[in-house]
Amino acid sequence: MIGGRSDGDQAGDWAGSGSNGVGSACRPLSSQEVRQLASGPGIEIGGHSVTHSSLPLLDREAQRREIVENKRRLEELLGRPLQHFSYPHGEHCDDTVSLLKQAGYEAACTTQAFAVERSVDLFRLPRICVEDWNGDEFARRLNHRFVED
Ligand SMILES: [Zn+2]
Repeated sequence: MIGGRSDGDQAGDWAGSGSNGVGSACRPLSSQEVRQLASGPGIEIGGHSVTHSSLPLLDREAQRREIVENKRRLEELLGRPLQHFSYPHGEHCDDTVSLLKQAGYEAACTTQAFAVERSVDLFRLPRICVEDWNGDEFARRLNHRFVED
């Protein structure tokens, strides 16, 4: 579905964002699009919370609801367990990490871009921002990241 129909079948409805005047270029994926994306080779869908709130600003129970409800809904949609999480805005605290582990996550990403070493904390992995690039540009940027000079 393209065009941002508000029919209760969009991820944004889960987030409570509803109709917010954002153009279709910035709309959330529909459930069908999430399933289609997840079926692609090398693609894994991970958790990212229900409302995209800064989790450390919430009390522990509210953080737990954001994490657990998002995981439940996506697992129901995708038909498989979520293993990885990306902190909204990269923001997290010790409670966030503890709650992710309790929920069954195996790793999580911040928004910091840095090289991964053996000693990396799996719940504080780096994340690289991906913009609206075409396939060639995406490949060029990946090569730049992973090929040593
Ligand atoms: Zn985000």
